[in-house]
Amino acid sequence: MSQLKVPLLDLKAQFAAIEQEVWPALERVVRSQQFILGDEVAAFEREVAEYCGTQEAVGCASGTDALLLSLVACGTEPGDEVITSPYTFFATAGSIVRAGARPVFVDIEPDSYNLNLDAVAAAITAKTRAIIPVHLFGRPVEIGPLLDLAARHGIDIIEDACQAIGAEWHGKRAGSFGTAGCFSFFPSKNLGAFGDGGAVTTSDVDLAKRLRALRVHGMERRYHHRWIGWNSRLDAIQAAVLRVKLRHLDRWSEARRRNAQQYRELFHEHGLTDLVRLPDPGPAHVRHVFNQFVIRVPAEHRDPLRKHLRNHGVGTEVYYPVPLHLQEALAFLGYREGAFPEAERAARETIALPVYPELTRDQQAYVVQTIADYFGRR
Ligand SMILES: *Cc1c(COP(=O)(O)O)cnc(C)c1O
Repeated sequence: MSQLKVPLLDLKAQFAAIEQEVWPALERVVRSQQFILGDEVAAFEREVAEYCGTQEAVGCASGTDALLLSLVACGTEPGDEVITSPYTFFATAGSIVRAGARPVFVDIEPDSYNLNLDAVAAAITAKTRAIIPVHLFGRPVEIGPLLDLAARHGIDIIEDACQAIGAEWHGKRAGSFGTAGCFSFFPSKNLGAFGDGGAVTTSDVDLAKRLRALRVHGMERRYHHRWIGWNSRLDAIQAAVLRVKLRHLDRWSEARRRNAQQYRELFHEHGLTDLVRLPDPGPAHVRHVFNQFVIRVPAEHRDPLRKHLRNHGVGTEVYYPVPLHLQEALAFLGYREGAFPEAERAARETIALPVYPELTRDQQAYVVQTIADYFGRR
């Protein structure tokens, strides 16, 4: 079998397809010399709010800041607890600590990699201020029961939708369920900028106002500061790129979903599903947008298989090798190994395969054939 190159992500292929639309958008911003906020950002905010089905969207510097600004705008204070997943990108928990609160982790479900609802319910205390469910890898959280639980206790849901723009639960989009929805436009996300960027979606108009102030040092009227905020804005250049890309997002998400389905067929054709556990796309009422296609293999095979794939030109990644409760920076929380067995097991068994929209069927066949070769299968 001749060797193909299959990177984990190929942003050059995406750029080649939209280049003709991107250059004029960039030129428009450069000619305007309006780089910070302004019309371009306001237009993107309207478009992304409409896309997500919320009243408002507020651009900011990153997904991390979207989480931090949301927590503070919702009134999070020192001493508060915020419940979230130990199996996510570090920013989810880092932003809770930066907001002055304490992350309270609960274990995940092994199939969806999302928060275990019973564990969330058991972790609620008088100090709980918010819950941050993460729509991990693009799979929407089963959000209905979580919203009911939060409403019963009078606490906010802040969705970490950084990996899930366009994901749906009963036809409604990620970022439209909670008090706030947090998005990242880091280049590897499904809607990626040419650098860092983020946004918060909300239908709470007062919250949107506070968010708009907090991203400019708590300023509502020019040079009159009501709060201590941050400098955390979305650049006009990034907004212009994102406006172009947003028009293609649904087509790209469909291509990711098609690629996921093709992997499923190929893994079955090779009879590999006893060794390789495929990602669960979820029930019929959810639309998984596959920011990542994450398989599981027995822990002893994970790193050797990755090496075999790398040696054959296939890029992979492990999301995430160390669950957050075992991170050095969070040792002060006092969690021990064994606290969250499902998160710890996922950290040992998972591998993300290339699933980007421009991936060809031949490339996918090559990836699965290479995995079959590793296991000595045809
Ligand atoms: C990417 C990501 C973030 C942080 O976004 P940045 O834009 O990189 O700051 C937060 N949470 C999750 C789940 C992410 O995937």
